[in-house]
Amino acid sequence: MDDKFDCIIVGGGIAGLSAALTLAKANMRFLLIERGEFSGAKNVSGGVLWGNDLNRLVPNYWEEEDAGFERFIKHRRLTFADHESSFSLDFKSAHYEKPPYAGLVVLRSKFDNWLAGKVEEAIAASDFPEESFIATNILVEEVIKENGKVVGIRAGEEQFFADCVIIAEGVNNLLTRQIGLQDDYVPADYMATGIKEVIRFDQKVLEDRFQLKELGGMSNEFVGASITNGIEGGGFLYTNRDSVSIGLVLSIKDMREKLKKSGKSIYDVLNDFKKHPVVAEMIEGGEIVEYSAHVVSMGDMRVMPKEIYADGVMLTGEAANLLMNSGKAIQGMDYAMHSGILAAETVVEAKKAGDFSANTMKNYRAKLENSYVLKDLKNLQGAVHLLHDKTLMNDVPNLVCDFAKQFFTIKNEPTEPTRKLLSRSINKHSSYMDLLKIGLKGAKAL
Ligand SMILES: Cc1cc2nc3c(=O)[nH]c(=O)nc-3n(C[C@H](O)[C@H](O)[C@H](O)COP(=O)(O)OP(=O)(O)OC[C@H]3O[C@@H](n4cnc5c(N)ncnc54)[C@H](O)[C@@H]3O)c2cc1C
Repeated sequence: MDDKFDCIIVGGGIAGLSAALTLAKANMRFLLIERGEFSGAKNVSGGVLWGNDLNRLVPNYWEEEDAGFERFIKHRRLTFADHESSFSLDFKSAHYEKPPYAGLVVLRSKFDNWLAGKVEEAIAASDFPEESFIATNILVEEVIKENGKVVGIRAGEEQFFADCVIIAEGVNNLLTRQIGLQDDYVPADYMATGIKEVIRFDQKVLEDRFQLKELGGMSNEFVGASITNGIEGGGFLYTNRDSVSIGLVLSIKDMREKLKKSGKSIYDVLNDFKKHPVVAEMIEGGEIVEYSAHVVSMGDMRVMPKEIYADGVMLTGEAANLLMNSGKAIQGMDYAMHSGILAAETVVEAKKAGDFSANTMKNYRAKLENSYVLKDLKNLQGAVHLLHDKTLMNDVPNLVCDFAKQFFTIKNEPTEPTRKLLSRSINKHSSYMDLLKIGLKGAKAL
């Protein structure tokens, strides 16, 4: 074999594994390096993998007995909460039961490991079964450049060389910064902390409690100051096979300020969320089996790397800040998968053209621009910024719950007109002017 690979992939998360699977199927010779003991060992996610890209990578994946996912999404709920109540938008549909599913609840340690198995299978079936590898437990410390072009990587004393490198190192993108594609300093305003627990139940208890049938599952997002202790952010709960993933995503900047004032820790904030009367009922009797925390981008394009390619290199997934939280869902895994596939397709084209310079790598950017990833990120930036709005995040949930409490309470007294009830709730928790402003912002954003 040549002493150099067609491609080296740094990071065996979803972006890296998706790139690897695409390369293996195209008979490319590559080395994927993951610092964890196995793919998924260091990954944290809430997490719902949205969309159908997985079917592109592993056709009819659902036909496998244990296809790496926990449940498919059949039931979605967005909950606005005050300190004692909740008001939800609730959507459940048999439409979601047909594969390929619209969303899959995954536990990353299991899912990434399964996907890595698919890469190994594809390598074995390729023209170069002995010349492509997944190497784990190795930390890439440096990206090697020669004459301005990326030509390989260094891990400890070892150096490996390739025609190009795909960086799929996730949100803590030290190598991306090392090669100058991202500024060293990313302000905390643009970053959040995700904190999550996996709580296990007897499977029958879980299925009865959440009305789950077979592999159907539920995703529930929560909004309101009483969910997050007033910190900018939100909560989530997703049903796995016999557990739930529950957690919070909190703005780092706001969290620092608020925790300093309250003297609480982030664990206290998570525990308060779990004690919320509506949430406590959902998780009662469960046993915590996993705890994790991870930085997550907030999806603000202002902190995207200056460029996502250069001579001999491409950035994928969260290393390129490809994440969006538009309020409807967190999308990071689907973006990671799609960008990994597109970067790998660009490697195949570069190999054919015999040109791994920026001139070919720029096709990756064009592909991403034409895909839902950058289209959505650009088009929905207004919605991303809207989630910082205090009226929407704090006042609206209080207002909605206050109004619902009055509206749904039947007393042995004459009923007040609904408009009066609504007006009282608006004046108590916000103002017509603030609601008008947020309405206009929302109309512009969506
Ligand atoms: C609490 C939380 C909830 C979330 N919920 C959702 C959700 O519901 N839906 C969704 O789509 N997204 C969600 N996300 C976001 C999603 O997890 C990320 O966007 C996604 O994991 C990004 O994938 P990636 O492959 O780019 O990076 P990662 O998954 O972070 O993978 C990067 C990999 O690179 C490895 N690595 C890093 N540096 C090196 C190095 N120098 N050498 C070798 N290996 C290295 C790491 O060990 C890791 O395995 C959530 C995130 C958090 C924190």
